[in-house]
Amino acid sequence: MRVVITGGAGFIGSHLCDVLLEDGHEVVVLDNLITGSLENISHLFGHERFRYLKMDVTDFLHVEGEVTHIFHMASPASPADFPQFPIQILKVGSLGTHKALGLAKQKGARFLLASTSEVYGDPEVHPQTEDYWGRVNPVGPRGVYDEAKRFAEAMTMAYHRTHGVETRIVRIFNTFGPRMRLCDGRVLPNFLTQCLSGEPLTVYGDGSQTRSFCFVDDLVEGIIQLMAKGPSDPVNIGNPNEITILEFAEKIKAATQSSSEIVFRPLPQDDPKVRRPDITRARNLLGWEPKISIEEGLDRTIPNFKARLKMS
Ligand code: UDP
Repeated sequence: MRVVITGGAGFIGSHLCDVLLEDGHEVVVLDNLITGSLENISHLFGHERFRYLKMDVTDFLHVEGEVTHIFHMASPASPADFPQFPIQILKVGSLGTHKALGLAKQKGARFLLASTSEVYGDPEVHPQTEDYWGRVNPVGPRGVYDEAKRFAEAMTMAYHRTHGVETRIVRIFNTFGPRMRLCDGRVLPNFLTQCLSGEPLTVYGDGSQTRSFCFVDDLVEGIIQLMAKGPSDPVNIGNPNEITILEFAEKIKAATQSSSEIVFRPLPQDDPKVRRPDITRARNLLGWEPKISIEEGLDRTIPNFKARLKMS
């Protein structure tokens, strides 16, 4: 396989690079580094099957030679990015997806869109199945991301139906692991850096809202299986092990043996109250399910955060 990964210098994209290179494939990363980082892929520079091109996929997309697969992972993805990069997020989901699909059509490549559980918004169906249409506020602070991804899914299906491009849509639920930005703003980087630097843990609201956290290695395995096997309909990939944010804070405190206190801060607008993937489709069609517990995932993540906190 000669694979293009948009957003390959990001958190999930860079882990995908590692696994695909290990499996013997050639990897071309396109990234504009607005939220990605060269630090995530610096260990790959000099690898004979790896190439990095600094490119904004919303502007222009040209890759020389054969391309067999495109993983379209590019987008800022933390709620903290939404007010900072609203137009870039809308552009990469719309124009960027259009350009990446155009490249897939031109090269005869198979295409995978990294979509999100955010397409379900603040859900009324729990756990979320792929046939649920969601409850999204288009004009709220999360709308820029949610609607960009919903548009991206529609564009992906249009290229599949109109041009016969082989496509996949993965709806990614909360994921964590090494290389998440220290100042990412999402709950795990916040709690972990707070524990490791002896600061209070900032729980938003009363902490009763739930999420379901998947370790990045499990997620990447699911994405690769989906690319290989299909279907073209969306597939949830995530860990159905649902916990409250307050429980998550306690788990991170225990894993880091931190004595940081927990403080409560206002709940951001439109923050989903519950989230848990129904992964029946992934189980049945891909034979995939997550294997790594939150505790084990934290043990694998903490050394990476410790190393970077000492550096910074
Ligand atoms: N959250 C929190 N404290 C933080 C950061 C986030 O309590 O310092 C909460 C946030 O309000 C949400 C959950 O943790 O309910 C997950 O937030 P995150 O930003 O990680 O991603 P989301 O799942 O909302 O996209």
